[in-house]
Amino acid sequence: MKCPFCRKGDFAVVDSRSQDGGFPRRRRACDHCKRKVWTVEQIVETPLQVIKKDGTREPFDAGKIRGGLEKACYKRPISAEQIEAAVAEILEEVYSRYFGEVPAQALGDMVMARLKTLDQVAYVRFASIYREFKDVSEFVQEVQPMLKQSRNGTGNASKKRKRAKKAD
Ligand SMILES: [Zn+2]
Repeated sequence: MKCPFCRKGDFAVVDSRSQDGGFPRRRRACDHCKRKVWTVEQIVETPLQVIKKDGTREPFDAGKIRGGLEKACYKRPISAEQIEAAVAEILEEVYSRYFGEVPAQALGDMVMARLKTLDQVAYVRFASIYREFKDVSEFVQEVQPMLKQSRNGTGNASKKRKRAKKAD
């Protein structure tokens, strides 16, 4: 490389030493101005950007994923460990599938997918905010398959069942 000081000479590596668990240090010397320095390589991480619905970007924040899950699971029988596990799974998916940018919608879908298996009430809570249902019928469409499931299954939604029967 060209010497960054005099910008004339060749800034060549004249020595290299490995460090325990770190990047090797390199001794570089200029054949023009005769400067000698040690250099260490550095990782310059590109932070992941979230592309929002309106096209604006904001830095990816795992705390927001956790916050969304916690809010949806408020007063539900979901442990902190379950939430942490869901956050970890989402982070793994984000970093393995996206580089540089991730659409906010993809993040929302990942949260929805985890909530769907964790807790139905939490799922509906999150979905109702995230999907921004335009009217009640749209909301019912989303929830109906789950009500049918709980009618056949263990159903901890007995109140809902009664209400649903009236509607039938
Ligand atoms: Zn130089």
